[in-house]
Amino acid sequence: MSTISHDELEAIRDSVRALCEQFPGAYWRDLDAKREYPTAFVKALTEAGFLGALIPEEYGGSGLGLRAACAILQEIHKNGCNAGAAHAQMYTMGTVLKHGSDAQKKDLLPKVASGEIRLQAFGVTEPTSGTDTLQLNTTAVKQGDHYVVNGQKIWISRAEHSDYMVLLARTTPKDQVKKKGEGLSVFLLDMREAKNNGMTIRPIRTMMNHATTEIFFDNVKIPAANLIGEEGKGFKYILDGMNAERTLIAAECLGDAEWFIKKAVAYANDRKVFGRPIGQNQGIQFPIARAYAQFKASSLVVERAADLFDAGEKCAEEANMGKMLASEASWAAAEICVQVHGGFAFAEEFDVERKFRETRLYQVAPISTNLILSYLAEHVLGLPRSF
Ligand SMILES: Cc1cc2nc3c(=O)[nH]c(=O)nc-3n(C[C@H](O)[C@H](O)[C@H](O)COP(=O)(O)OP(=O)(O)OC[C@H]3O[C@@H](n4cnc5c(N)ncnc54)[C@H](O)[C@@H]3O)c2cc1C
Repeated sequence: MSTISHDELEAIRDSVRALCEQFPGAYWRDLDAKREYPTAFVKALTEAGFLGALIPEEYGGSGLGLRAACAILQEIHKNGCNAGAAHAQMYTMGTVLKHGSDAQKKDLLPKVASGEIRLQAFGVTEPTSGTDTLQLNTTAVKQGDHYVVNGQKIWISRAEHSDYMVLLARTTPKDQVKKKGEGLSVFLLDMREAKNNGMTIRPIRTMMNHATTEIFFDNVKIPAANLIGEEGKGFKYILDGMNAERTLIAAECLGDAEWFIKKAVAYANDRKVFGRPIGQNQGIQFPIARAYAQFKASSLVVERAADLFDAGEKCAEEANMGKMLASEASWAAAEICVQVHGGFAFAEEFDVERKFRETRLYQVAPISTNLILSYLAEHVLGLPRSF
């Protein structure tokens, strides 16, 4: 059972939709061409309180659950906008909320809720380790009352638009840990200070407008007080946040699927070739109908994942399946939307090609489909471990 009523969810969707109407396709096309960050959109989301949805009321947030947060992100994408520039402000703080000290929570969370502090950079991936997070090489060595960080991260999104980063680094060398998952620690890195003290951010131009970067650390100091939780337990803390992240990203995929399906149906009804609407042909109808069925089925799994999460129950299976199925539904919808539009799919002013580029990411990041299948095979079905 959901912890939030249908009417409450509808009210949230209505207000998100009203906000999104101020940011039509032309806004996103312009930013896409210039590869610029959607500052005005993120500011509007912040001021409306949507990015503080998951922060408890005692810390100044709305105290909503994951199901409500999913509704916010889905509605953003359903309306042709993109939450990728801001979604991490919603969930990166989860590591602090769950594992941070009282002082860290009291200091940081109210500022994240109000938007005074942008905590939307999440530093895990490295060029040589990739998905195999436990092989990461960035080190944080304790020296007196601070840690000294050296190494490199890649694909760190929104780093240029964030005040803090949740950083995962190695505090115990690989050959000295008792268990594979130990020896990594999580830090709150003040990026404003680090920028002038050994941290270099280099933007990476990607096929869509995503503000992602690579980051180099050259003797960057982090106060010991900024360690989150216990030293060496960082990998577990990061894993703890994955279910929420996967479910939220799945909700964005659902929104994309809805956008593509609506657009495809409208065009198929409107466009006449051989003297009749192209949507009259079953060769056009069936793939749209199939994408719709995929969207509906994956919605149920994503909603189930969010409800289990909100009830404090285990949800890894549903969160992983929801992410995979929703990203496949959005891709199927994107594919038929392009096909239905024919040549016009490739014209920027239709927004189809932009959304097509944007939605492809979800089968790779934040986790690739193969790794989800591997999780299901090993942890749900009991098949032998393959790596
Ligand atoms: C636009 C963008 C934004 C991102 N933002 C962030 C961010 O903010 N913070 C962050 O830390 N990371 C971020 N990432 C990184 C993202 O999480 C990784 O790209 C993703 O997890 C895949 O890792 P990889 O690119 O290193 O692929 P690799 O690990 O090199 O894998 C390459 C391919 O091989 C497959 N593969 C690997 N091992 C196996 C196996 N054992 N069995 C079967 N298949 C396998 C993978 O599924 C994948 O398809 C971002 C990435 C992108 C592209």
